Amino acid sequence: MRYVIEPSPVSSLPVIGREERFPVRRVFCIGRNYAEHAREMGAAVDAAAPMFFCKPADAVVTDGADVPYPSATSDLHHEVEMVVALKSGGRDIDAAHATQTIFGYGVGLDLTRRDLQAVAKAKSHPWDVAKAFDHSAPVSALRAADEVALDADTRISLMVNGEMRQQGRLGEMVHGVTEIIVVLSKLFELQPGDLIFTGTPAGVAALQRGDRFRAELEHVAVLEGRIV
Ligand code: MN
Repeated sequence: MRYVIEPSPVSSLPVIGREERFPVRRVFCIGRNYAEHAREMGAAVDAAAPMFFCKPADAVVTDGADVPYPSATSDLHHEVEMVVALKSGGRDIDAAHATQTIFGYGVGLDLTRRDLQAVAKAKSHPWDVAKAFDHSAPVSALRAADEVALDADTRISLMVNGEMRQQGRLGEMVHGVTEIIVVLSKLFELQPGDLIFTGTPAGVAALQRGDRFRAELEHVAVLEGRIV
């Protein structure tokens, strides 16, 4: 195939213990998936209808890379989240088959221009400028699902400059991973390479230039980086 301009490079993530990388196709995110976080944002959890938004694949930043402080905001927030990476997809996936679509797991930051999000909410505008900006999705290396044993007590956490900012357990998620895949696959035909950010526990706060972050999904993955 020849193109009139150079095609964009494929975004990808390293895989722990493998030389091959994971090619990223799309980035789906669920909002308000921990009740304490929904509360701190002044929002209610809608247990019947989870809400989703997307980031472009090239918003992904890999472990250890600097994250440039974005333009057009003075209130960049961190949201630490478990990230699920899909190796297969489909439409109308049922609960019994949902976990078979998972390649592996990592941890990421759903970086948010909180000031622009507040404006969007007030005007009933979409969240894209608040959520889908360049470099808005730092993600760790992935660990293959067959090496991972997650349970309700598995901890997700974020340290900034050595200080604990966010801590939660996967059991606190309103919508679990299986349910998220089931519901998303009714809205989109899921594809190999899709990533899903699974929501953030309470404690979201601002990041400044120079801050060093360390996100961890217990026993699975660590993401480190710096805001520059
Ligand atoms: Mn989030």
